[in-house]
Amino acid sequence: MSETRHNWTKEEIIAIYNKPLMDLLYEAATVHRKYHDPNTVQVSTLLSIKTGGCSEDCGYCPQAARYHTHVETEEQLMSVSHVKAQALRAKSSGASRVCMGAAWRNVKDGPEFDQVLEMVRTINKMNMEVCCTLGMITENQAKRLAEAGLYAYNHNLDTSKEYYEEIISTRSYDDRLQTIENVRKTNITVCSGGIIGMGESLEDRAGMLVALSTLNPQPESVPINALVPVEGTPLEDQELVEIWDMVRMIATTRIVMPTTQVRLSAGRTQMSREGQAMCFFAGANSIFAGDKLLTTPNPNINEDMQMFEILGIRPQEPFEKHKQPVTVEAKDSQYVDLGENPKWTRPTHKIERNEQKRKTRMTE
Ligand code: SF4
Repeated sequence: MSETRHNWTKEEIIAIYNKPLMDLLYEAATVHRKYHDPNTVQVSTLLSIKTGGCSEDCGYCPQAARYHTHVETEEQLMSVSHVKAQALRAKSSGASRVCMGAAWRNVKDGPEFDQVLEMVRTINKMNMEVCCTLGMITENQAKRLAEAGLYAYNHNLDTSKEYYEEIISTRSYDDRLQTIENVRKTNITVCSGGIIGMGESLEDRAGMLVALSTLNPQPESVPINALVPVEGTPLEDQELVEIWDMVRMIATTRIVMPTTQVRLSAGRTQMSREGQAMCFFAGANSIFAGDKLLTTPNPNINEDMQMFEILGIRPQEPFEKHKQPVTVEAKDSQYVDLGENPKWTRPTHKIERNEQKRKTRMTE
């Protein structure tokens, strides 16, 4: 019987986060061992199937069209055969999941979405878990993804509701929650987490964990990212996250979401192996492997496998936690293209900091 609680308060979470480190680690590791094999870590590979040129203004993201970063826009959606080749490579290196990310505000029905559905079918038939992160989706689009065999849908809350508008002004927190609700109407598992190091307070970190842990059911997967500040984005000058903050955040996430897979995500290139080992001890049991995390650097999968060997960790097999979805072929599908391109919310306020940064850059 799961003892998962859905009524965590910000105060309780802050008290956990602030415990003496040894007590926090001990408690998190105890919870972790109760629900998971401590020597198994799930390995995902992240593939950017459509890069850059995004209409959103996420302050941390080099793919937003409005910032001037090193990222080159690739208008063309990756081909199904290219995705298949990348997935095969990842599988042979030990990855059990392929996450495909497209720099879209939301999914629009049409040929591009049909192509994504074909990618999902192809990877599921390779007996790998398939995850997509495509922006906001409607209930019908979620159902079409589920039919194609999608295992997980990623849609991060990023931070607390209160801090959200400091980071993103082109959509609202409620839009995010709505997409998660749409995904929940299918058997696709939910992957949702956030980023630390964006100038948020401890209250914001706790606020994000309240938002995630009070979802019922809690997300099956929660990525915790350390900001990788990218030149040209409004958050380019943020200081790097201390390993202690990462360990505390992972441990707290593990305690409040005991059955979830906690993913040690972006920012691993800034961490030593010892630091990462501490995160695994604190309850992280998933990583992204591959040289790139969409557009930012990440440790090479072979280096990760060496680290696993040192630590005696084995990569998790696909579908160990949830069973493999059945793929329905396009011709047999029950849910059709409705021509949907909903507007979602566009809050009218502007992020002052982003605007200032934009003006400075324009005069440079
Ligand atoms: S995080 Fe996603 S939605 Fe936000 S700007 Fe980047 S690609 Fe667009």
